[in-house]
Amino acid sequence: MPENILVTGGAGFIGSHTVLELLLAGYHVVVVDNLNNSSGASIRRVKELAGEHGDNLHFHELDLRDKPALQKLFTGTKIDSVIHIAGLKSVGESMEKPLMYYNNNIIGAITLLEVMDAHGCKSLIVSSSATVYGWPKEVPCREDFPVDAINPYGRTKPVVEEMCRDVQRADQEWKIILLRYFNPVGAHQSGYIGEHPRGTPNNLMPYMQQVAVGKRPALTVFGDDYSTGDGTCVRDYVHVVDLARGHVAALRKLSDPDIGCEVYNLGSGKGTSVLEMVAAFEKASGKKIPLVMAGRRAGDGEIVYASTEKAERELNWKAEYSVEDMCRDQWNWAMNNPDGYESPDP
Ligand code: NAD
Ligand code: UDP
Repeated sequence: MPENILVTGGAGFIGSHTVLELLLAGYHVVVVDNLNNSSGASIRRVKELAGEHGDNLHFHELDLRDKPALQKLFTGTKIDSVIHIAGLKSVGESMEKPLMYYNNNIIGAITLLEVMDAHGCKSLIVSSSATVYGWPKEVPCREDFPVDAINPYGRTKPVVEEMCRDVQRADQEWKIILLRYFNPVGAHQSGYIGEHPRGTPNNLMPYMQQVAVGKRPALTVFGDDYSTGDGTCVRDYVHVVDLARGHVAALRKLSDPDIGCEVYNLGSGKGTSVLEMVAAFEKASGKKIPLVMAGRRAGDGEIVYASTEKAERELNWKAEYSVEDMCRDQWNWAMNNPDGYESPDP
């Protein structure tokens, strides 16, 4: 019997790519999403991309914090494992509306774990983030580094991580994997699914994409006086399809009876500066990206990239795509969908 996997946040950027990889790997998938930052079009397009596997995807539009609705879902469908991706993720918004972030990200996780527990479903993968490393004192960031989140969004991640550790310590039937994502970018090679930020993008790649298609005049580079090769910040960009496959690898690892509660970085292990990323995107798109050099953005760490040894060794997972691949696929998505999911089907 194929396993039934519940994916929370499965209509979003990372969720939609993960759902597709799960379907292609033969899993049956149930998605729960309140479409707060996504569109039902992603679900429809994932179904189409999955071809003969598309019928194995079922979508429920609901908020994770709606406990009765979640209980009903678990009563009506046998769920073998859960991949919990849903969450709010904007650093700036979290500084303006911290309670909204704590409410959504923490209460959402508590409600999910309570309902899982009540239904004897104790197999879980959770989205965490490299943001938990804050300003790391050294790189690459290893999973045993101290946690030092520096904004309300970031702080919701270690809270959920610790809650998962406590739940597993109290009841060893639980098997939990915490995945710390670095900087997911790019899009599926088909150009059919990708990232669709609402409003002004905060992140480098979606912002640069909007400059390249002429929606914004220039990219503001936040700081060129860092102690890096070209003075701009260094990050670990990872192709979203690689990241999605990391979830399939983690799901396989959950069948290890001794897994307990483990944390893994999902990154490429390579550092790329802002200006290097701009050059790669200009090459992929054939567009010149006008730049405005500005001061440092509050809260930005200088150099952040992952140690990937643990994921390679224990999950048998390694990112395969290069920065060039990420830029090519991001541009292909942009070209095919100038207005994201509001564009007509390509
Ligand atoms: P996204 O906004 O595209 O997807 C998140 C999805 O969760 C959305 O579809 C949203 O509608 C849904 N959602 C939010 N709150 C919900 C709730 N209460 N009930 C039901 N659905 C809800 O974001 P993403 O980039 O795909 O990020 C997914 C996860 O990965 C988040 O937990 C985020 O913190 C984490 N993460 C993202 C990044 C990144 O740069 N994108 C980096 C590190 C970690
Ligand atoms: N960045 C930038 N201009 C932008 C957005 C981001 O120069 O409009 C820089 C930012 O300062 C950081 C890098 O690009 O050094 C990656 O930023 P992003 O927000 O994408 O990821 P994060 O800061 O969460 O790692």
